[in-house]
Amino acid sequence: MSCKDVADFLMEYLDGTLPRAQRVMFKLHIIVCRDCRRYIDSYKKTVELARDAGGAVALEDPPEALVRAILKSRPSHRANDQ
Ligand SMILES: [Zn+2]
Repeated sequence: MSCKDVADFLMEYLDGTLPRAQRVMFKLHIIVCRDCRRYIDSYKKTVELARDAGGAVALEDPPEALVRAILKSRPSHRANDQ
């Protein structure tokens, strides 16, 4: 998976609609690619800010730690939906 693929798949990934195989590739790429982690961090931050519509909740969590926590804690979430 390339950085361009990550950008293309990001919304599906965050929505949880990305197929499992691509999800795995996506996560692996994020783990090794700092640029994409940064890109996703800023994307998520924007989405969360928009979603919260002025709420301060999203700002309390460092996005990078949040992404890492997600990557760590959700390896088998939706793993059986194939
Ligand atoms: Zn990348």
